[in-house]
Amino acid sequence: MKIISINAGSSSLKFTLFELPEKVTIASGTFEKIGLDDSFYTIKFNGEKSKKEVSVPNHTEAVNILMKELIDMHIVSSLDEIEGVGHRIVHGGSEFTDSVVLNDDVIKKIATYNEYAPLHNPANLLGVEAFRKALPNAIQVGVFDTSFHQTMTKEHYLYPVPYEWYEKYGVRRYGFHGTSHKYVYNEIKNHLGKEKLKAITCHIGNGGSVSAIDNGKVIETSMGFTPLAGLMMGTRCGDIDASILEFICNKKNITIGEATNELNKKSGLLGVSGISSDSRDIEDAIAKGDERAKLAQDIYADKVANYIAMYNNMLDGADVIVFTAGLGENSKDMRQAIISRIHSLGVTLDVQANDMRGEFKCISGKDSKIPVYVVPTNEELMIALDTFNLKNK
Ligand code: ADP
Repeated sequence: MKIISINAGSSSLKFTLFELPEKVTIASGTFEKIGLDDSFYTIKFNGEKSKKEVSVPNHTEAVNILMKELIDMHIVSSLDEIEGVGHRIVHGGSEFTDSVVLNDDVIKKIATYNEYAPLHNPANLLGVEAFRKALPNAIQVGVFDTSFHQTMTKEHYLYPVPYEWYEKYGVRRYGFHGTSHKYVYNEIKNHLGKEKLKAITCHIGNGGSVSAIDNGKVIETSMGFTPLAGLMMGTRCGDIDASILEFICNKKNITIGEATNELNKKSGLLGVSGISSDSRDIEDAIAKGDERAKLAQDIYADKVANYIAMYNNMLDGADVIVFTAGLGENSKDMRQAIISRIHSLGVTLDVQANDMRGEFKCISGKDSKIPVYVVPTNEELMIALDTFNLKNK
């Protein structure tokens, strides 16, 4: 069965077409700069990548172009072959604890969470509307970044702020990257062949979060009310003292919105190094002796290490630690920097095993008290699998 997995952003739309249950990727691609003058799209199929620069005024048009290309490039012979569309939706609040079939009522409910994720949710829903029109016979499924984390108990999701902030306005920890944490947890569980597994999963890419997972249930995750919380990230600050906001607004005579924007876009690796949000640039700068780049890497590693130690305590001892996403899969330096900071847990590194990129592999030493694995994530496949499962229900 063919299932297409969709990630619609405010000016982009990414797709991957799968054959399931075989888990074969048939084609993938991206529409970028939707609504801008220099919009374009790329499609990867049969080992070749094609790029076309055409006007893509909105998401509906992007989907129309995609449908036409799927036929013209003989990727499918009829659009009816696509039996399901899985949509990444960033915020499902505390209500959507699992993936869900999208109908009018569900879409209306999702829209009530738009104010929690104003940059993402409305864009995700534009993608849903476009595909409901283009493929009316296919099942449409919403897969939320938040839902895997909704097993957290109040002890772990409540902030110690006035209780009415939670009751009246929904201020609490929701967590994000759930699709990735769920995917790598399932992968490592299958690999280790364990019925019950306590895992600490570290999704560290441009954004980053760590989760403590016990027997398939998230106990706690480092992102919070928004994806700004927790770890230091490429451009995001992670956890900081909330009083800084008022202080810096007064000092710089800027609004809370402007200051929050700096915490989201000008902080993290970029803010500390003054060079880049991309860890490849940071590693290049470190090699040339740049001290602030080294400081940025050290702070980053320190935050991840401390979350691992805290979550190991919460789990009363983890069975496995997993690294995934851009840095977790590709940066041997960052993995080493993190592991060198969790000696107190008895974790050791196999330096040779760690010298690789993008492989599913154990990288800890034989004497390590907790094994450490790199597990490449595949959020698109996870979205497609949830869609496939709801289609077959
Ligand atoms: P996103 O959160 O946007 O999905 P990714 O998971 O793709 O991001 O992670 C992107 C980040 O991964 C890059 O910014 C870069 O810091 C890091 N990265 C990718 N490849 C490498 C590499 N070879 N070495 C070090 N870091 C890398």
